[in-house]
Amino acid sequence: MTQAVTQGRRLERLVRGQETSDGAGVKLRRVLTHDLQQRLDPFLMLDAFGSDQPGDYIAGFPDHPHRGFETVTYMIAGRMRHRDSGGHEGLLENGGVQWMTAGRGLVHSEMPEQEEGVMEGFQLWLNLPSQRKLCDPWYRDIPSGEIPEVNLPGGIHVRVIAGHCAGVAGAITREQTEPLYLDVHFVGDDATAVFSQALPSHHNAFVYAYRGSLDICGAQDTQTVPVGHMGLLRNEGDGLILRGSSGTRAIVIAGQPLREPIAQYGPFVMNTREQLMQAVEDFRAGKFGA
Ligand code: MN
Repeated sequence: MTQAVTQGRRLERLVRGQETSDGAGVKLRRVLTHDLQQRLDPFLMLDAFGSDQPGDYIAGFPDHPHRGFETVTYMIAGRMRHRDSGGHEGLLENGGVQWMTAGRGLVHSEMPEQEEGVMEGFQLWLNLPSQRKLCDPWYRDIPSGEIPEVNLPGGIHVRVIAGHCAGVAGAITREQTEPLYLDVHFVGDDATAVFSQALPSHHNAFVYAYRGSLDICGAQDTQTVPVGHMGLLRNEGDGLILRGSSGTRAIVIAGQPLREPIAQYGPFVMNTREQLMQAVEDFRAGKFGA
C-alpha cells in the first residue's frame, strides 16, 4: 500500500479497441478511439501494438507530420529508429520511452530496426493546452535504465514514466495536463496484494491490461479488466486500487482535462477548424521543422 486510498474508483466501462493499421501498414489495436477524446481529455489516442510477425510491423511509419500535441511511445519489446525534421535521431528499445512534443510542427519517421522477433508497445497522444500548441518542438529519448522504478510490498513493481507514484517523480512531469503514466507489474505470489494510487476525482483515468487480467477494487464492488482491454474509470473517490495475480501487467494513465475544444484532422490536433486549415497550409508550404 502506498498512498492511502479509501474510496477506489469503480469501472465505468470496458473497451476492446479496434483492429486497424497505420503508417505504411503496421497492424495495431486502437484502444483510445476518436469517440473517447472528450471523455478521456487530455488524452487523444492510445494504440497498442504487439506482434512476432515481421509483416505486421516491418513497413513502419515513414515521414509524416504532427502539430498541436505530444506523442509518448513506450516500447515493451523491440527496436524502433526515430528521425525528425528538427535534427533529432534516436533508437527506442526494450523498456524505453520516447516523449515528443510536436508543438508548432515537425515531420518524423518511426521505423523498425529489426527484421524478426517481437515488437510490442504503446503510443499515447497527449493534448497540449491552447497556449502551448504552437510551442517549439521538443524531444527526449528515455532509455529503460533511466525510468524511475518503485518496488512496493506484496511484490508490486512500478515503472514511473510520468507523474508521481509512492513519492517518486517520473521521468516526465507536465503542468496543466499533469499526466500520470505508470507500468504496474504484479510479480509476487500474494494474491491479496493491491496497488493504490491517489488521484483527484476530476482527473480522467484508464487502465490497459497487457498481461493477465486486472481487478479494479471500487468502493462498492470489484470488477475485472480482461487482458487486452482498457478499463475506463469513473471520476469519483480519492484514487484507484488495483489487484492482479502474479504476472499481471497493466499501464495506468490519468491526467487533468483541458476542457478546450478539440479539432482533429489526421496528425494535426488544434482547437478550431481554422487552425487546422492553417496547419495543412503550413505543412504544404514546408514550414514544419528545420
Ligand atoms: Mn508519428
